[in-house]
Amino acid sequence: MTTHIKQITSESLSEAKKIIFDGGVVAIPTETVYGLGGNAFDDSAVEKIFAVKGRPADNPLIAHVHKEYDLSNIIDYDPPYAKALREAFLPGPLTLVYPSTGKVSPCVSCGLNTLAVRIPAHEGAQAFLRAVDIPVVAPSANISKHVSPTSAQHVFEDFNGKIPLILDGGACEGGIESTVCDITGDIPVILRPGLITKEMIAGVVGACEEYTPALQEGEKVKSPGVLYKHYAPRCKTALYTDTAEAVNACQAEKRAGKRVAVLCEEEKLPCFAREGVILFNLGKTEEEMASRLYGLLREAEKACDTLIAVKPTKQGGKMTGVLNRLTKACLSVDIKH
Ligand code: AMP
Ligand code: MG
Repeated sequence: MTTHIKQITSESLSEAKKIIFDGGVVAIPTETVYGLGGNAFDDSAVEKIFAVKGRPADNPLIAHVHKEYDLSNIIDYDPPYAKALREAFLPGPLTLVYPSTGKVSPCVSCGLNTLAVRIPAHEGAQAFLRAVDIPVVAPSANISKHVSPTSAQHVFEDFNGKIPLILDGGACEGGIESTVCDITGDIPVILRPGLITKEMIAGVVGACEEYTPALQEGEKVKSPGVLYKHYAPRCKTALYTDTAEAVNACQAEKRAGKRVAVLCEEEKLPCFAREGVILFNLGKTEEEMASRLYGLLREAEKACDTLIAVKPTKQGGKMTGVLNRLTKACLSVDIKH
């Protein structure tokens, strides 16, 4: 199969629509990362997405819809505070997990009695979703566990020859996946942190909790399947909090004959300037770090044998999502499903 990358035009949207209604998959841009889209009502299209990504069968998918889509077509119950969240943040990088079952293919939620729904803000995503006018499941368009894609070229690297079409909507501005927020209980619970933060959600509905599985390197894994290596570049990785320790690690890797790269926030770059390593600048602000992270991890896997990452100093707010991705990308434990 030849994989075409096409700009978003009425022709490419018609082509994408045809592929979707024929049960195929199409890569689409969103404001977070690129997604691998398929018809959420079509069992075999959804199964195809799991197969082509090599995604674990127990990791449910998010249904994407355009902003005028009638949500009652796919959800059973709209929790009382959901409207306020939609009005505040959607379209945007927030996925809401509703109570629902049986409206879309059973493969979407992997047997859970909930459905995750997202309304992306990206113009290209909206145009595509309006064209098909059905819910489209669209997990990140990367081979499972590999770094998520923030450009059409990243998608091509993972799926060349495996999917027919990549709609090119440019570089993704957000850079990390949507916040996933469970709204089935009395107060919202964040299952996956992202650029819509706990504080932002609590600011609208009064309260918000964060589900935080253990993520410390070396810590005993309590919940396999939650804590598995994810978003990972194909090079050896190590994450340090202490800059001096990171410098030592660079020197040890170099002595072992490895090509070494360092990924850190801008202000720490000078600490590595004399080490003779490749430097990747994560930036200064939380937004910059989110939007650069995956692109730099993909550059690193091409350029080095060992990537030494240094945890940014800033924590909380939008950094929670950035640190979650960086930590998982650098985990040495690789939990098999
Ligand atoms: P991805 O599509 O690769 O961005 O991953 C989707 C994320 O949403 C995963 O972390 C899933 O576990 C989560 N997710 C999707 N559907 C549900 C659901 N019904 N309940 C809880 N989490 C979900
Ligand atoms: Mg993913």
